[in-house]
Amino acid sequence: MTELFYRDIVKGLRALGLNHNSHVVAHAALSSFGRVHGGPEAVAAALAAVCGTVLMPAFTYQTLIVPPEGPPNNGLRYADYAEQNANSEFWRPDLPVHRTVGAVAEALRHHPEAWRSDHPVLSFVGVGRYAAEAIDAQLLTEPLAPLDVLLRHDGDLLLLGVGFTRAAIVHLGERRATIGFPQAGQRTFVRWALTTQLAPPLAHPGVMHDELQALTRKMTNEFATPRRTRRHPLLYVRPDSHATSVREIPDFPGCSDGFDQLAPHVTGIGHSLHLGEATLWRYPLAAVVAKVVELIRQDPTALLCSDEGCERCNAVRLTLAEVV
Ligand SMILES: [Zn+2]
Repeated sequence: MTELFYRDIVKGLRALGLNHNSHVVAHAALSSFGRVHGGPEAVAAALAAVCGTVLMPAFTYQTLIVPPEGPPNNGLRYADYAEQNANSEFWRPDLPVHRTVGAVAEALRHHPEAWRSDHPVLSFVGVGRYAAEAIDAQLLTEPLAPLDVLLRHDGDLLLLGVGFTRAAIVHLGERRATIGFPQAGQRTFVRWALTTQLAPPLAHPGVMHDELQALTRKMTNEFATPRRTRRHPLLYVRPDSHATSVREIPDFPGCSDGFDQLAPHVTGIGHSLHLGEATLWRYPLAAVVAKVVELIRQDPTALLCSDEGCERCNAVRLTLAEVV
């Protein structure tokens, strides 16, 4: 097996048409490359060296916790999570990226110029010209806003040895498809995470309260640009004095297991090359979003997964049955 070096990755990214005016949201699987000298740090450093902006998801699913009961039709069987709950971790700004998101994102998090947002589950990490702008844009109620910033700067989607199941931009397309077109039926879910950082005002179980905090990278500035979200009952029953550590996460995206169905529809708008054992793809974000909108409006089930037991995809099907 040939070994890839930092300079090979830099050359490959440039051959893909990337340069200092490229602003990318990247998803990568290190193992897909074969052997990489320098490991994930070499890939993250090459991305940061070649591109004007690099944004990667730094999601922390390990903070998720599921209450014993909650809203119906929420893509969740509440009783099934006792074991997962026992392993839940508190969000903190230096919490490692979840292992399923990948070692390259974790390496980018350690980049000396990296910004990270403080969403307890769906944080992003970014380096470069528009990184701070993208990171600052994220709100608890708009977890995908950093992608929207890159979209506005003519950004690209970069898939490094991974498929569209990893491409969070598809969720942004789902949202766009539904704007002014409710029969698209795309929807989000409510989840919960362990965090002390954004503890809501004291509330009693079942009592309605407002959630107003914006998310910024400055912990001291978390009330700077408040944004009113929907009102929800606080459903988690407080077990002990850490009760305010459970944070409701609104607008959690649906299942992405079916997103590879997008691939044949966007082949013509992408550029690809082989590097080591990986295939790298670059697509303009705007064209990907436009294609997602078109596909979903033609067939709202187009990007749902085929697992009959998938709770989130079935919840979308249920919503579709209601709106049609
Ligand atoms: Zn699914």
